[in-house]
Amino acid sequence: PQQIVLASRPQGEVSVDNFRLEPLSLPQMADGQVLVRAEYLSLDPYMRGRMDDRKSYAPPVAIGAAMEGESVGEIIDSRHPDWPVGTVVTARTGWRSHAAVVADGLRRLDPAAAPVTTALGVLGMPGFTAYAGLKEIGKPTHGETLVVAAASGPVGSLVGQLARRAGARSIGIAGGAEKCRALIEQFGFDVALDHQAPNLAEALAAACPDGIDVYFENVGGAVLDAVLPLLNRFARVPVCGLIAQYSGASTDGPDRMPGLMRDILTKSLTVRGFINYDLAQLYPVFLQEVGDGVRDGSIRYREDIVDGLEAAPAAFIGLLKGRNFGKLLVRL
Ligand code: NDP
Repeated sequence: PQQIVLASRPQGEVSVDNFRLEPLSLPQMADGQVLVRAEYLSLDPYMRGRMDDRKSYAPPVAIGAAMEGESVGEIIDSRHPDWPVGTVVTARTGWRSHAAVVADGLRRLDPAAAPVTTALGVLGMPGFTAYAGLKEIGKPTHGETLVVAAASGPVGSLVGQLARRAGARSIGIAGGAEKCRALIEQFGFDVALDHQAPNLAEALAAACPDGIDVYFENVGGAVLDAVLPLLNRFARVPVCGLIAQYSGASTDGPDRMPGLMRDILTKSLTVRGFINYDLAQLYPVFLQEVGDGVRDGSIRYREDIVDGLEAAPAAFIGLLKGRNFGKLLVRL
């Protein structure tokens, strides 16, 4: 048995020196636990975040502790009646060959239903991420244009396929000619763009003559810069990942964008612009609800009334400077 621990925190790019391979003594089992022998360990971009000692949605891995991660493996010892030896499961083993884990967090796999490795990819956390981000936020519909980068990975490749299923045009962005070929041939994207080629912004604009309706954000950085001018009214941007800035992009420099995107992602912020008339369907309910409040005095209002049309220009200028106090009106 062995494990890989976090030996040191990276300064910028991760190096192999940040990790250490160690022998592992088989853990003592408690009631309710099972011992899993890992067969496949999933490596995922979020692990980069766990290596930094900074506030995020999950605490960092401690120095000297095993790296976190999910595996597919087999139960080889059990202290739980529902989870017999021989069961194939996914488990949060960390980067370890063996782990004693509580049975609560396990998912039982049927090797006959799908290759077990899919439980860590298309039928696991990354696949669910693509599905949930589209269902809840992206909502691509017929005739719309969707853009996603890291498009050959487990998240992006499913995003593209689900977008096509919904009748949208899908534009995938990936690094290099080979990945771009796979986007078309294997994953059925309508267009594949190489972000390593020069002029991504121009290529993207040419590929999106009707603009972009859904941008599934996986990377940030230069791809986001290329996307921004092309976003249509009412476009949706599920902010899923920002891999271009995981290793060092300053989040507190004069450029506020990386920090803003990081906050949107890690705090699940909803940031949505609106113009009142776009929500006109709410008008009748508004009049009822707030009107009742004004009539019974539970909702208050304040007015600032100036006299004579000739007073309008100065009053308006005052409004821009804060000299009005309440709803500014001109009595004619
Ligand atoms: P991938 O297997 O796609 O691997 C990451 C890929 O990102 C790389 O292969 C590379 O592909 C691309 N990439 C790296 N740096 C850059 C860059 N500077 N510009 C453009 N592309 C870059 O990863 P996943 O499918 O597992 O994850 C994709 C994204 O989804 C990540 O940002 C991840 O953090 C996020 N994620 C978020 C989750 C959530 O719950 N919010 C859950 C799971 C994943 P290429 O060569 O094509 O550039």
